[in-house]
Amino acid sequence: MRPKLPEKTMDLLMTNDVECHSFETNTLHDAIAERVENEAMPKLLELYQQHNVKSTFFFTANFARLSPKTVRTVRDFGHEVGCHGYNHTDYYDVLTYEQQIDLLRKSKEIIEDISGTEVVSFRAPALRINNHTIRALEETGFKYDSSVSPQRFDGPLTSGAANKMSWLFAERKPYYMNYDDPFRSGNSSILEVPVSALLWPFIGTTLRISPMITLAVQKMLMFESRFTRKPLVFLFHPNEALEFTKGKTCRRGSFFSDNIRHALKMKNLGARSLELLEKVFGLGKFDFITVSQVKV
Ligand SMILES: [Zn+2]
Repeated sequence: MRPKLPEKTMDLLMTNDVECHSFETNTLHDAIAERVENEAMPKLLELYQQHNVKSTFFFTANFARLSPKTVRTVRDFGHEVGCHGYNHTDYYDVLTYEQQIDLLRKSKEIIEDISGTEVVSFRAPALRINNHTIRALEETGFKYDSSVSPQRFDGPLTSGAANKMSWLFAERKPYYMNYDDPFRSGNSSILEVPVSALLWPFIGTTLRISPMITLAVQKMLMFESRFTRKPLVFLFHPNEALEFTKGKTCRRGSFFSDNIRHALKMKNLGARSLELLEKVFGLGKFDFITVSQVKV
């Protein structure tokens, strides 16, 4: 009888964007920070601990100020503390180099003061960056970025959609970014750790909209990783673990974003979102690493 070979492990990065977004109103609300601290984080951190997950939490500076306890708890559980911009209205694809430096420096300082750790990893709000972002990140002491999602196609289901068409041609494996083009490899010192996608994004939102498709995509990503050793990078929002009742949408003047997109984003929130997350962990044998542990 042939001995059974041990199942190969692969790297899976759980990344968490922590912001004050309310699914109820589809807008930012400071009060969400307290709910995330008390209702979502204890359950999420327990789930991660059960599965030996070490992950990266990208905080907006605004959230960190509103809930310093969350930042410190995350650090004490051994997760990486990263930066998710200033207040989630800072879109780096439309900001000048000087504006980006100013916001990145401010945000990094606030989060480092609260966490007492060095913050080296960045994810842009709404994954919106431009070519100034690379030098701005270098200038402010960052080493890692995770704001690109190669071969992801959102169509109108995203903000900054026109720029994101470049994702279709971006490199799949982690790469040092090119000063002239954040979607290509080059000579900068910023290591891009791309969020996984295969047209369909590998994120909490799509996991909740269609668990079946997202888990099928995960299997394909695992198949790819077996050959290329490309890590799988999943993106979750702790506020997805909050229970929301479907409220009145804040009117933004677009039928699509006010109604259809909003209804889709409300699916399977709360406890169900964490059950689905457990299915992601259950699909294979994974080494859970943080963004700053990625090597090329
Ligand atoms: Zn975000």
